[in-house]
Amino acid sequence: MKLLVTGGAGFIGSNFVHYCLREHPQDEIINVDILTYAGNLENLRLIDSNPNYRFVKADITDRAALEPLFQAGIDVVVNFAAESHVDRSILDPSIFVMTNIMGTQVLLDLAKLHGIAKFVQVSTDEVYGTLGETGLFTEETPLQANSPYSASKAGADLLVRAYHETFGLNVNITRCSNNYGPYQFPEKLIPLMIQNALADKSLPVYGDGLNIRDWLYVEDHCSAIDLVIRKGRTGEIYNIGGNNERNNIQVVNTILHELNKPESLITYVQDRLGHDRRYAIDATKISEQLGWKPKHNYESGILETIRWYLSNLEWMEQVRSGAYQQYYEKQYGER
Ligand code: NAD
Repeated sequence: MKLLVTGGAGFIGSNFVHYCLREHPQDEIINVDILTYAGNLENLRLIDSNPNYRFVKADITDRAALEPLFQAGIDVVVNFAAESHVDRSILDPSIFVMTNIMGTQVLLDLAKLHGIAKFVQVSTDEVYGTLGETGLFTEETPLQANSPYSASKAGADLLVRAYHETFGLNVNITRCSNNYGPYQFPEKLIPLMIQNALADKSLPVYGDGLNIRDWLYVEDHCSAIDLVIRKGRTGEIYNIGGNNERNNIQVVNTILHELNKPESLITYVQDRLGHDRRYAIDATKISEQLGWKPKHNYESGILETIRWYLSNLEWMEQVRSGAYQQYYEKQYGER
């Protein structure tokens, strides 16, 4: 199978490229990534010389750059490429519309034109909006995106659906909860807190710290996407969740405890605008239809993750470019 993976230099995409080449050594992967601040070829150094892997630096909105790749023959497109950080979407929504919506439309159009066998859109539970204290998101939950990020992902999902309904393109949409694990850019909660705690810097926690997320170990997400590629029923949406609801303060306290750092490092900062209170996923459909089960529970996954960052401090240093420092100071002030 020949896969075109977009955004394969980012957090989940790079984990997926590793997973796929390990589980299916006969498959070929072309990784298309423009290498924004979040894309890092260091994430792929271990498979750089694999003859079944090729990197192409291109923007998913650039049809002319992508056309030859499709002409050369692709079986499956897996679209991870996105602007993915909610806080950045509040600072500047426009690039989110461009990449997440326009980019997806360009890929869909090329997939249709070149008759590819399957298009998998990697989406998010954030398209469903927020939950109260109870309840779970199912695939039937109405789309009620609240941030410019989630609105752009919801827009892309609807285009994917439209290409299936209108043109008969064989598509799947996956919607997963918050991922954690190796190679996550340190603007996201877990690596940010690990990095700050190690440097004895304050740990900025939004609002009262009680926002709840359902944490999913990235490799379990990759195994779910892999199943959807190979067995997903045409036109179906699959929710993917870890069944690991934790509030932010619980996550931060685990990190402090493991790193032997004091809770006094926690600083409560002004809440994110429109901050969704709780996300939780009902993943019954993917487990019943495709037999997916996560292998990691939160307790072991978070320890594995902390250990990975401790063993990869050099990686952490490399990805924190000057541009990231400027963004951090704008977001949280200098601390
Ligand atoms: P990420 O920000 O770490 O990586 C995104 C990658 O896309 C980067 O390598 C970046 O360079 C690339 N990219 C951005 N714009 C591009 C463009 N115009 N052309 C080509 N490449 C471009 O994101 P992630 O956390 O790995 O998320 C991957 C996907 O999973 C996204 O679509 C995101 O919406 C979705 N998702 C993520 C999470 C999570 O917890 N991280 C949860 C649910 C869904």
